[in-house]
Amino acid sequence: MISTDTSFDLAAGALNLLDCGVIVLDGEHRIVLWNRWMTTRSGRSSTRVCGQSLFTVFAELRGSRVEAAVLAALVDGNARTVSQGLERAPFPLREAGSFDGARIEQAVTVSPLREGGATLCMIEIRDVSGTIDRERQLLEHAESLRARSYVDGLTGIHNRRYFDMTLDRELRRAQRNGGPLSLLLMDIDSFKAYNDHFGHQQGDTCLITVAQALAAMLKRPADVAARYGGEEFAAILPDTTAEQAAGVAEAIRLDVAKRRLAHAPAAHKDHVTLSIGVASFSKDGLNEPALLIEAADKALYAAKRGGRDRVVMAGTDPSP
Ligand code: GH3
Ligand code: MG
Ligand code: MG
Repeated sequence: MISTDTSFDLAAGALNLLDCGVIVLDGEHRIVLWNRWMTTRSGRSSTRVCGQSLFTVFAELRGSRVEAAVLAALVDGNARTVSQGLERAPFPLREAGSFDGARIEQAVTVSPLREGGATLCMIEIRDVSGTIDRERQLLEHAESLRARSYVDGLTGIHNRRYFDMTLDRELRRAQRNGGPLSLLLMDIDSFKAYNDHFGHQQGDTCLITVAQALAAMLKRPADVAARYGGEEFAAILPDTTAEQAAGVAEAIRLDVAKRRLAHAPAAHKDHVTLSIGVASFSKDGLNEPALLIEAADKALYAAKRGGRDRVVMAGTDPSP
C-alpha cells in the first residue's frame, strides 16, 4: 500500500479542486486516490471505493480499453489515451447531482506514476460532452451542406456535380473489374415551345415531374439519376450492359410518354416526350467520362434527328 504522508494528503487536497476526475491505482489495481470530481459524478465516495479494485467498483471496465490502458501503464510503463472515437463514455459517470441521466462523454488518459519503488497508475477523466456536442453539430451541419451541394435545387434529384463525380468513380470501377456500365442522356422534346406556350413556371413544374418520374424508374441502389443541364437529364447505370440499358431507356421513355402531359401546339407531339441517347463503357473504346458522354450525346442527337420520342444506342446511328 502507498504511504499517506503529509505531502500526499496535500496533493490529494489539491486534486479535489480540479475540474476533472483523478483516480490513482496501486500495482494491484486498488484505488488509492479518488478525487471529489469522481465522487460527485459517480455517486461513490472516496472512503467507499478506496482499497477496492477499480474493476470491482466498475465491473463493466473488465476487458475494456481502460483496463488495457491500466495494464499498459502498470506493466510496461506506457501512458495511453483511450480513443474517444471508440469509447465515448467508458465510466458510468453522470452530471453532478443526476444519477439517472445520460452518461457524460469522457476523454480518458492513463499514465504510470512512480512512487518510491512502486509503480502506480493515474487515470484522468475529462468531461467532453459539450465539446462532442459542438463537434457533432458542426459535423451534421457540414454533412447537410455537403448533401445539399449534390442536389439540384429545382427538381430534387442529383445535380451535375454529383453526376460528374459519380461517372468518374463508376468508370474507374468498371475499368478495374471489367464490369459493364451504361450512360443515358435524355432531353425533353420541344421544350422551348412548352415554355413559350405555358410559361416558364409551368415549365419548371414539368421539369420536376419528368425528373421525379426518371428517378422512380431507376430501381437499383447504385443507379444515379441527375439533372445534366436545363431540360436535360442523365442516368448512370453501373453493372448494366448496353442491351439492358436499352430496356431501361425504353421504359423511361414510355413512362414519360404515357403520362400524357399536355404539350404546346407548336411541339412535335401533343404530349411531353423524351429523346434518349445510350452509350456503354468498353475497355478499349468508351473508357473515359468525356468519351462516354460524347457518344451518348451523339446518340441523343441522332434520336432528335430521327423524329424525337425515341431511344438511340451509340454507334447505331443509321443516318450519315
Ligand atoms: P429539342 O426537341 O430539340 O430538344 O427542342 P427544345 O426546344 O427542347 O430544345 P432547346 O435546347 O432549343 O430548348 C431547351 C429549352 O429548355 C430552352 C430553355 O428555355 C428551357 N429550359 C432550360 N432550363 C430550364 C428551366 O430550368 N426551366 C424552364 N422552365 N425551362 C428551361
Ligand atoms: Mg436541350
Ligand atoms: Mg429539348
